[in-house]
Amino acid sequence: MSKILIIEDEEAIADLEKDYLELSGFEVETEERGDIGLTRALKEGFDLIILDLMLPGVDGFEICKKIREEKNIPVIMVSAKKDDIDKIRGLGLGADDYMTKPFSPSELVARVKAHLARYERLIGSGVQENETIEIRGIKIDKTARRVWINGEEKPFTSKEFDLLTFLAQNPNHVFTKEELFSKIWDMESIGDIATVTVHIKKIREKIEFNTAKPQYIETIWGVGYRFKV
Ligand code: CA
Repeated sequence: MSKILIIEDEEAIADLEKDYLELSGFEVETEERGDIGLTRALKEGFDLIILDLMLPGVDGFEICKKIREEKNIPVIMVSAKKDDIDKIRGLGLGADDYMTKPFSPSELVARVKAHLARYERLIGSGVQENETIEIRGIKIDKTARRVWINGEEKPFTSKEFDLLTFLAQNPNHVFTKEELFSKIWDMESIGDIATVTVHIKKIREKIEFNTAKPQYIETIWGVGYRFKV
């Protein structure tokens, strides 16, 4: 039986959610404090978390971020304000879903079922943990194809992601632009090694604090690039 934790300080809402989910056969626990909720979410083996945004102790933003650093379990965030949902999305905290209060309990149950089914498929396929690369402040999730810089998610195009990942997987190895072009772009691609330069520039704009003094992707003049560790 799947175990769900509801972190919600409004008792009436928590109870309503709990009742509906229990009727659907889930084991449900509620927690009204953010700080205790976070500890429980990390320590007890819940399969899914329903997380309110404004909570005493620690807020939902921080809780979601902390859960995501350690666990792949689905997180559904709820808020009374549509604006907050937009903000949460913008922050890229890694929540799996968002709902604006008030919502119908049956809608919540439907979403919980969908996320648990997806999560179980992921576990069942043997992909217990996403494959990630972490070098200093950069975290690259190769499974989900997502990138975080100091905890903040950055959007990457497909080729930017492939190029960054390839370099980060081969740290300190110097690659020529020709090598990178042939590794990342297939032979039929239109473009040339200038494409590599353009992509490196775009990646640096996303990952470097100061693009004039790159800390991660270093230019080796006359040769190419390397990812420094
Ligand atoms: Ca609240």
